[in-house]
Amino acid sequence: DMGRKDADRTFRLGIMGGTFDPVHIGHLACAEQVRDAFGLDGVVFMPAGDPWMKKGKGVTGAELRYDMVRLAVADNPYFDASRLEIDRAGETYTVDTLRVLRAHYPENVELYFISGADAVFNILKWRDSDEIGKLARLVVVTRPGYILNDARRRYMRTHASILHMSSIEVTALSISSTDLREKVKEGRSIRYLVPQPVAEYIQHHGLYTGVS
Ligand code: ATP
Ligand code: MG
Repeated sequence: DMGRKDADRTFRLGIMGGTFDPVHIGHLACAEQVRDAFGLDGVVFMPAGDPWMKKGKGVTGAELRYDMVRLAVADNPYFDASRLEIDRAGETYTVDTLRVLRAHYPENVELYFISGADAVFNILKWRDSDEIGKLARLVVVTRPGYILNDARRRYMRTHASILHMSSIEVTALSISSTDLREKVKEGRSIRYLVPQPVAEYIQHHGLYTGVS
């Protein structure tokens, strides 16, 4: 139902994938800065349904992680949450998600897959990783505390054009979901590290206490 004018212009859609267990302000600030830098029309946060790289590590249920993402993006008109990966059975591969999105959107919608510098190297394990470059642009974001070794730096350089990859430095927020889970477990405060509605959700559902 795009108007004629809209059909003529290019739309840029960011996709922020992750486990989001839980989503935190590092994710939000990162997505917002990429949106701003690349002139994206919006960013869709896409919680992984069955994170294959985190198998057996006791990841919180997809519905709960999705709820938290929804709460986190609610106040940003450019952000949205997608159920695409959590509704799909089986393991989650980025290339499959991008195929579905590519088939869904018209040609004038460009896809930008956003990933932290640490997570992008899972691309080496991703199936059909070369196809990713044809489906979407890859935006690699600096991650505080994560230093690229020589091999990875080389990999980035040689694969930048194949993978349609660009990197961007975002304001460093040294925060991870792992740290947050640890803090909650120890009964420490996570205020200001996650949006307040997310903190309340975690408390209300007793997440990360190690009890449930
Ligand atoms: P965990 O500690 O459980 O791995 P996480 O904080 O790394 O959680 P993920 O859901 O694994 O969060 O990450 C989703 C995406 O966001 C990844 O691409 C990751 O690199 C990126 N990301 C996470 N935290 C930050 C941050 N503080 N700054 C920049 N990028 C981040
Ligand atoms: Mg991670």
